[in-house]
Amino acid sequence: MMCYFIDNPLKDKKLSYIWIVFICQLSDTMSGLTRLNPSPVWQYFEEICKIPRLSKNEGRIREYIIDIAQKNNLESKEDKIGNILITKPSHSEMENRKTVVLQCHMDMVGEKNADHPHDWLNDPIIPKIAGEWVTANGTTLGADDGIGIAAQLAVLSDNNLKAGKIECLFTVDEESGMTGAVNMKADFFTGRLLLNLDSEDEGILYIGCAGGMDTIGTINYKSEPVPVGSEALEISVTGLHGGHSGDEIHKGYGNSIKIMNRILRNLSNHYRISLSNFDGGNLRNAIPREAFATIVVKKSSVLQVKNHLDDFQKTIIKEFGDLEKDLKISAKDTDLPRFKMDRKSQDGLLSSLTCCPHGAIAWSKEMVDLVETSTNLASVKFTEDNTIKIVTTQRSSIDSSKRDAAVMVEACLKLAGAKVEHSRGYPGWKPNMDSEILKIARNSYKKLFGKEPSVRAIHAGLECGLLYEKFKGIDMISFGPTIRGAHTPEEKIEIRTAGMFWDLLLDILNNIPVLR
Ligand SMILES: [Zn+2]
Repeated sequence: MMCYFIDNPLKDKKLSYIWIVFICQLSDTMSGLTRLNPSPVWQYFEEICKIPRLSKNEGRIREYIIDIAQKNNLESKEDKIGNILITKPSHSEMENRKTVVLQCHMDMVGEKNADHPHDWLNDPIIPKIAGEWVTANGTTLGADDGIGIAAQLAVLSDNNLKAGKIECLFTVDEESGMTGAVNMKADFFTGRLLLNLDSEDEGILYIGCAGGMDTIGTINYKSEPVPVGSEALEISVTGLHGGHSGDEIHKGYGNSIKIMNRILRNLSNHYRISLSNFDGGNLRNAIPREAFATIVVKKSSVLQVKNHLDDFQKTIIKEFGDLEKDLKISAKDTDLPRFKMDRKSQDGLLSSLTCCPHGAIAWSKEMVDLVETSTNLASVKFTEDNTIKIVTTQRSSIDSSKRDAAVMVEACLKLAGAKVEHSRGYPGWKPNMDSEILKIARNSYKKLFGKEPSVRAIHAGLECGLLYEKFKGIDMISFGPTIRGAHTPEEKIEIRTAGMFWDLLLDILNNIPVLR
């Protein structure tokens, strides 16, 4: 608890005491993290909040981490890309244990409310306690993965820790492409039991993740002048749920591009419409929430087209029902564009988007409720020089299935004469229910909390996929405290679960088996 000694306006001694208590409580509500349990973890977390550390700007956090290693007389090394490894020798009674690797990422995502001034390269994050949670003031908190960094630093500086040799790995640039893990050499660490501290649900031990890749199509079309006597309409599809293309792909939410394409195809079956713009979706890893298209029709058909659209949109909205209750489809008059797409290209585009899959493709045979393979039709945009760019993302915990989904999407895009490219992507981490480290973690969890933890895989990417591919024979789990709203200014971490996370980590470290 911190107390500020400031001028006391009250001369009476008793009132003076009350004044100091008041000021102490006030300072506590300003941060007060250090009085939370486990205190070493929260102390480090508070320090880390002061250090700007956006992806690709990790210089200062790297210095801080190395400094902690030096203060504790621990051996540390850095590789070319900027990953750090700090080694803590074993306790004298634990020398024959297997080496454990602890892993977190040192960067964070910077998101803030539009009206909140924050300089991401210089300003500290201001954490605050809000009931059962710690959150930040108008910005992301950086508990993803600041709590992992804090826990590793607390382990490194705990002189009484009874554990074998520990290698603490701090990777760079996880949030903007995992380039730290991608470029790590396969001899950077020696341990083959790894605890990844970058997941966000207390009570769940993660044992697998999906790999991913992008498939991108580019279509060149001919533009033609808009005929005299035409009018233009802008159609919009808005209000969809959207969501993360890994975590929420199976929930059946509407894809604005698919809905828009369906509308355009339906209209073109009844009227002669010409497309002059299509703009749907945004981020490659988000399910598209909005789409806009500009069509050109004969002046005499405008009213009929509007009426037809009005009927058809009722059908679509009814299909989604309560799942997409804010879905809105509308058309309004707009300025007449000078050019439109040639008919052959337009037919090709609409056919190709009709065929192009979106959503879950296969479910895991080993794990209930886990999407194994999926694809996200992420964005379609008309760009300059008469080109259309279509971005899609495929994910799977099985590499060959991921590539098969990409080939399927490629075939669809080629219907429109698209030139198709695939990104190199990143590998998945296949679940292993017989994992040794899983058994240890499960036993620790049951012993500490008197219940079974859930064991799950996620249909999103973790650095574990890359480590799994690179470090042959590695045995891993991922766990963490409960964090909600990661990557948004609403990010918060549940205080109680940070304590559980720490207790579990220590107990696992204490129960690492003897080398055979
Ligand atoms: Zn993270």
